[in-house]
Amino acid sequence: MKEWEKNVRRVNPYIAGEQPQEDNIIKLNTNENPYPPSPKVKKAYETTQVDKFALYPDPMSSELVQALESYYDLKRGQVFVGVGSDDVLSLSFLTFFNSDVPILFPDITYSFYPVWADVYRIPFECPPLDDNFCIRIEDYKKKNGGIVIANPNAPTSIGMKASQIEEIVRANRDVVVIVDEAYVDFGGETVLPLIERYDNLLVVRTYSKSRSMAGMRIGFAMGNEALIRALTDVKESINSYTMTMASIRVGAASLADEQYFQENLAKVVTTREWCEKELERRGFFVLPSQTNFLFVRHEQISGQELFEKLREQKIFVRHFSGARIKEYLRITMGTDEQMKAFLLQLDKILEKNIDNKVHL
Ligand code: PMP
Repeated sequence: MKEWEKNVRRVNPYIAGEQPQEDNIIKLNTNENPYPPSPKVKKAYETTQVDKFALYPDPMSSELVQALESYYDLKRGQVFVGVGSDDVLSLSFLTFFNSDVPILFPDITYSFYPVWADVYRIPFECPPLDDNFCIRIEDYKKKNGGIVIANPNAPTSIGMKASQIEEIVRANRDVVVIVDEAYVDFGGETVLPLIERYDNLLVVRTYSKSRSMAGMRIGFAMGNEALIRALTDVKESINSYTMTMASIRVGAASLADEQYFQENLAKVVTTREWCEKELERRGFFVLPSQTNFLFVRHEQISGQELFEKLREQKIFVRHFSGARIKEYLRITMGTDEQMKAFLLQLDKILEKNIDNKVHL
């Protein structure tokens, strides 16, 4: 090993879902929204002044921050924005988790959490979810350096009640509790109203799922003013200009089209409910989802084999190798057309003569 190599920060990187660039594939592997963003977003993007790109963007992203404050009826100073919620979460780990006592998050959750903990040298422990993939609240009542909970959880798709999260926040007033609500718009219970009561609660959201804007990289955190100030100080110490002019504009524009947003959500949820039934008819065990994806397994075929067979047909779903979940597949809800094509391929793979007439 060369001398300089001893000084290199070594990490096991997060493995992002595949982003195949070919056409004619069905992409159900990274929980994106199958529908485009609101026409108001398109208009805002098209009217972005390219000449202004010569200047740096507003370091405070004020247009977007103020639009979020008013959309969620929050006070000045309660919103922080970043380059996707991955950026916001990673900065939150760096800002709030500086104790020698391990932080806590479940054994099965967003697989980026252990990677950030590792890269920032934050000790962590992962209390196992119970046999139904639910959090045991008692596990979060011991001494810890902070807590992260994805609600609804990924990849399990299962949501917790706001009152259960509140119990955890209440039992942990001396540390910051981060609730990652990436999927909450699809039917989860938010803890946002609790930020007024608990100054140790940070709620993180994204534009990547419910707002159909994964490509623009917009995420945000909401919490007490002191939390947001601390987060902003750390961000300003790393990179002042994180949000591009275009993402600030389109992010604000998306909030101005509530009707489109609600219709889009309803479409995804309807597809999910229909798809859940269709999968159950085909012998799948489907976890109860409050997200835009389903987490499923089949008794007769392994997760790995099904993943590979679907991939051969250019249908991309997500498979994880972790011991407790290796028989499962995580399937993002696409359009109804895409889900019909997916189900037809499944039937071929399962070699079952199930009535393929899809019921919508
Ligand atoms: N949290 C969870 C639970 C997620 O599944 C994802 C998507 N991979 C993210 C956060 C990050 O999403 P983004 O950076 O696109 O906002």
